[in-house]
Amino acid sequence: MIKQYIRTFICTAALLLMAVAAWCADIRLENRKVRFTFDAGKGSFLRMEDLAQKRTVGSTAGAALWEMTIGGKKVSGKDFSRFTHRMASPGTLVMEWKGLAAPGNNVAVKVTVRLRDGEALSDWHLAVEGLNGTPVPDIVFPMISGLPNTPATSMAAANWMGELLDNPGAQLKKPGAKFEWFYPGHLSMQLMAVYNRPGGGLYAAADDAKAYRKNMGVQLGADGKLVYYMVHYPAQDADVQQYSMPYNAVIGAFSGDWISAAEIYREWGEQQEWCAQSRLRTGKVADWLKETALWVWNRGRASEVLQPATDLQQRLGLPVNVLWHWWHGCSYDDGFPEYVPPRDGRELFMEEVKKAQQYGVRSLVYMNQIQWGNSTASWQSKGAEKSSVKDANGQPASHVYNIFTGKALTNMCIVTDFWKKTYSDLCDTVINTYGVNGVYMDQTCLTRMCYDPSHHHPIGGGNYWVQHSGKLTEQIRSTIHNGQQVTLSGEGVGEAWMPYVDAFLALQVSRERYAGVHGWQAIPFFQVVHHPYSLAYGNYSSLLTPPYDEKWPEAHRPANMLQPLDPAFNRQFLMEQARSFAWGMQPMISNYKPLLATERKAEVDYLLQLAKVRNNGLKYLLHGRFQRAPAMVVPEENFPMSRLSIYAGQKDKVTSFEKKYPVIYHSAWKADDGSLGIAIASVRNAPYNVNMQFKAGAYGLPAKGKIYLAGAGERRLLGSYTGGAVKVNFEMAPKAICLVEVEP
Ligand SMILES: [Zn+2]
Repeated sequence: MIKQYIRTFICTAALLLMAVAAWCADIRLENRKVRFTFDAGKGSFLRMEDLAQKRTVGSTAGAALWEMTIGGKKVSGKDFSRFTHRMASPGTLVMEWKGLAAPGNNVAVKVTVRLRDGEALSDWHLAVEGLNGTPVPDIVFPMISGLPNTPATSMAAANWMGELLDNPGAQLKKPGAKFEWFYPGHLSMQLMAVYNRPGGGLYAAADDAKAYRKNMGVQLGADGKLVYYMVHYPAQDADVQQYSMPYNAVIGAFSGDWISAAEIYREWGEQQEWCAQSRLRTGKVADWLKETALWVWNRGRASEVLQPATDLQQRLGLPVNVLWHWWHGCSYDDGFPEYVPPRDGRELFMEEVKKAQQYGVRSLVYMNQIQWGNSTASWQSKGAEKSSVKDANGQPASHVYNIFTGKALTNMCIVTDFWKKTYSDLCDTVINTYGVNGVYMDQTCLTRMCYDPSHHHPIGGGNYWVQHSGKLTEQIRSTIHNGQQVTLSGEGVGEAWMPYVDAFLALQVSRERYAGVHGWQAIPFFQVVHHPYSLAYGNYSSLLTPPYDEKWPEAHRPANMLQPLDPAFNRQFLMEQARSFAWGMQPMISNYKPLLATERKAEVDYLLQLAKVRNNGLKYLLHGRFQRAPAMVVPEENFPMSRLSIYAGQKDKVTSFEKKYPVIYHSAWKADDGSLGIAIASVRNAPYNVNMQFKAGAYGLPAKGKIYLAGAGERRLLGSYTGGAVKVNFEMAPKAICLVEVEP
């Protein structure tokens, strides 16, 4: 039963003192778990109270609940002359604002907040009417202000795989400063958590299974506290009359940490079509992709890519495949999409691809799925500009990525038949003619808002991008001959793409290497929710300095290209590999050369060992459902870390820093057969005593069962348990990798 009240208090004391008729009132919406309080005068947000945990966020002064741009002006509730509220039904509060002075039309804003029965979660909806053609380019709603801003505050964002920032306020220097991301895109899920450690805090999400474009962010409020907000983008149709959010924002209180928040989101996320239709879960993913034990990410000609991978495959004795950049005839990354013929020449390329396949090495080649170089001949001759993404001012969305040539790329609109045909024809050529096994479709798990009215999609906001991204993958697959098993990979991860792409390149395991630290730490936020539905692979982990494209200007070519990095950074390599193992990903080495097998033997051996252990535990590490790992005492040590630009940062030198990191990485996964796998990777130079105790029931295991220890080779019985109490105790050798299996 929902218990809910609106309580109005007349503050007679204030009346007497001020000798004016004043209402000192508030609006309350509550059940047994959570209470929201709003100001009855203007509908400002005052407080959210977690009633069970007695935690309150908010402020006595209150703050705007929403803001929007109407006819070029930012307005909020205080700009309206009339505010009313009512209970539409038990647990459902409706608030309405009318009488906007300027631009003087009949604009009415309606907010509905509905409590979920017996839960600390609620659904928030906004609609605006009476626009009469006045554009509303953005709506910020809800704004949950008064969130804690202390050194014990943490913020988790689904920025691709997931990132956690402790004390976010320390990086937001002045009111209005913010962290903001877009969905679908850099936000792989519609989920944020802002909370205090230990304890809990704000759970913020959206229940949009149709992937409408939106932003989520956190900013510093005028009161020095944090504000969570979501931004919505109504389509900019000329005769717009109204906008009604096609989904709800979800707001609530939660206890625990980022894993707890992700587990709440999982209950909803797993019920959506993107999981039911996921290519991994529905068995549509190529067998060779599932069987990939290790990836080599090399760049350049076949001799620089396929031969090193074949070398590594022979050392490993398991399938090694390549992610292949710079195979194409054009310069990276300004000559797109003039990829063919390859720089090796048509005949040699085809011969080398085929030869590698005979050794079992498959090729996934790079082709950007959105960009066209403005300096290419085809940009002019094909008239590409008319199918490019236009910004709100009608200009093509161009960007210079290449610091060496300074040549621009322009985003192409995926809705246009012209771009879909251009890209799928390219895929047809490289797969069916050149014989590669798949395409890495760079920038796929991102979306753009396009304002070109000639493209026949809603102007600006909407959900057309993912739909057409899906259509593009269908079009590509329709060209594949002879039942070939082909892989289409996205960049980053994204729940909305799980029905469309086979694999997700996730590089945040090596975040420090390409982005430094700045307080952020990578977390497997996405894996907690979507691991059984999405195959993630990738790593920037390298033992060499970056390469340099032979097509780039000679003047910037570095003398030390592809030379072994300082051995001080060897442990960074191990740590990145250990993370990808523990986080349920397919491992990858970047810039592999056979000389590393002798010059960096210990590191390469570690990687091979890790790939073997993982290969013995695919029911957990490829298909398993994330579980919070049993607690262990994990030591930390200082690591020297290298920082290298991912764009073969030859204008920068390799920079470095030191930071404390765990030396043990562990995770737990539930297999479909009910057994529990605990993956453990040590990067410690000394032995480590694994000591875990946990309740079998906490993992859905029966009261008694057996415990096995699996490594790269044999699996041995470690012991058994009864009475529902599992105890695991054994010693791991320095830099060892293993899998503990608890079987019913
Ligand atoms: Zn467009």
